Amino acid sequence: MARVVVLGAGISGHTAALHLRRRLAKEHEVVVVTPNSKWNWIPSNIWVGVGNMRTDQVTFPLAPVYRRKGIVFHQALATELHPEGSPDLAAPHVTVRYTDPRREGEVAQLTYDYLINATGPKLNFAATPGLGPDANTVSVCTPQHAVHASEELAKVIATLRQGVRQRLVVGVGHGTCTCEGAAFEYAFNVEHELRTAGVRDLAEVVYLTNEYELGDFGVGGMVFHQGGEETTSKYWTESLFRERDVRAIVQAHVEKVEPGVIHYEQLDGSRNTLTFDFAMLLPPFRGVDLTAFDAQGRDITSEMFAPNGFMKVDANYASPVYEDWSAADWPSTYESPRYPNVFGVGIAFAPPHQISTPRTSPNGTLITPAPPRTGMPSGVMGKTVALTIVDRITTGTATAARRASMADMGAACVASAGTGLRRGTAASMTMYPVVPDYARFPGSGRSDKDTFGEIGLAGHWTKYMLHVLFMYKAMARPGWHLIPE
Ligand SMILES: Cc1cc2nc3c(=O)[nH]c(=O)nc-3n(C[C@H](O)[C@H](O)[C@H](O)COP(=O)(O)OP(=O)(O)OC[C@H]3O[C@@H](n4cnc5c(N)ncnc54)[C@H](O)[C@@H]3O)c2cc1C
Repeated sequence: MARVVVLGAGISGHTAALHLRRRLAKEHEVVVVTPNSKWNWIPSNIWVGVGNMRTDQVTFPLAPVYRRKGIVFHQALATELHPEGSPDLAAPHVTVRYTDPRREGEVAQLTYDYLINATGPKLNFAATPGLGPDANTVSVCTPQHAVHASEELAKVIATLRQGVRQRLVVGVGHGTCTCEGAAFEYAFNVEHELRTAGVRDLAEVVYLTNEYELGDFGVGGMVFHQGGEETTSKYWTESLFRERDVRAIVQAHVEKVEPGVIHYEQLDGSRNTLTFDFAMLLPPFRGVDLTAFDAQGRDITSEMFAPNGFMKVDANYASPVYEDWSAADWPSTYESPRYPNVFGVGIAFAPPHQISTPRTSPNGTLITPAPPRTGMPSGVMGKTVALTIVDRITTGTATAARRASMADMGAACVASAGTGLRRGTAASMTMYPVVPDYARFPGSGRSDKDTFGEIGLAGHWTKYMLHVLFMYKAMARPGWHLIPE
């Protein structure tokens, strides 16, 4: 009997757990540890954040799904990894603290044969003073944050209806943030809501970003080929901003937020302020608070994890110069180099370097998006690692790990720009590979044939269809495994 413990039931971990359970015989145990009782389709939080979806449309309780599938569920936070065991317990184990109201605060040790760390990001609002829903800005990262954002947006719309001008700022709240695609989506959904409410004239919408130029999205921008024409994500994105009259401030690092005022620095070293009536700024991400110990109880956190808290896997972290990186630096098995039965997937693994060119202001501030690990790659990594573990358990040998590098993986991103079955729009982008490979694709680093973008109503339908399909898949309804990651 083998036991696989999965930390985190987000896109990556939940995908891994379902595939493990489907492919492993019943004698083997699949255990999930995650702090929330509900699964969340995070991409649709954008629609909750403008009041067009309820939280129960983007979440469902995990316990009944896991009960039906025979997955052991601990509603808890993992706090410590003991991959060599500890002086008290010889087997490799994780220490968890329950968030389950019936066992709140209780601590337990769960032993494992294989461990998947799929704990995603820590939402690091603390990196920017005054940032976040407990301070001066709103967020759409969780369903609860998104509800709060929609309530604040409704207040601003009510004020606009009284004829009072309002400035709405949407973007990222630190120079090293990732997920610019989500900020972009929310900006255009807000703009769409203002038009629908008939108050657009009095509202100024500002997009505040750490990207060097629009269309970067943390992947260094894209070159699109359509109908024999070549265009860039920069020109494509800029035309949408012009068409919708959204002002963009690029190359910005938010230093602090005070009530109604954002203080930010730009790449040229200038320090500026921007007043606001409503601000949704995404936080920077770091790894969650996990510490690791060897058999003697020595703290090995800095050996297993990068300084940003993400877990080191089979990437090449040795090349310090950005210009020297190659696609081969990116991990493909997600195995910990120290412990081959421990894996880090989704946002939880430490990328070897930025994809967008790193840039620093004259004051020494890094203002560059961190590499995104979006939903599709996160799901693919979860499935790939699950299948590696299945191979090893079923053959009883240390078979070679399966591979899925982001430098050999495509991603489709559909950024909603407003809902409505007839009036909705979305910007759909497909790229291959996510991490440019200049050796295989000289020039842009990506395949001309598989990298394209389109804006229109069809994209909205696709986005809505993805919502329906991925909720269905995550609920493990019949045939769920036929829906690709
Ligand atoms: C607002 C928003 C919109 C987005 N829109 C899109 C989109 O349109 N398309 C797209 O491809 N991507 C989108 N993304 C990105 C996408 O959500 C992520 O790529 C994806 O969720 C990453 O999956 P993950 O499993 O690594 O992390 P997550 O899905 O965040 O899951 C991590 C899980 O780990 C749990 N956890 C945290 N700490 C611990 C701990 N100590 N112990 C155990 N469990 C823990 C968390 O509670 C969570 O369940 C969006 C992100 C945001 C914030």
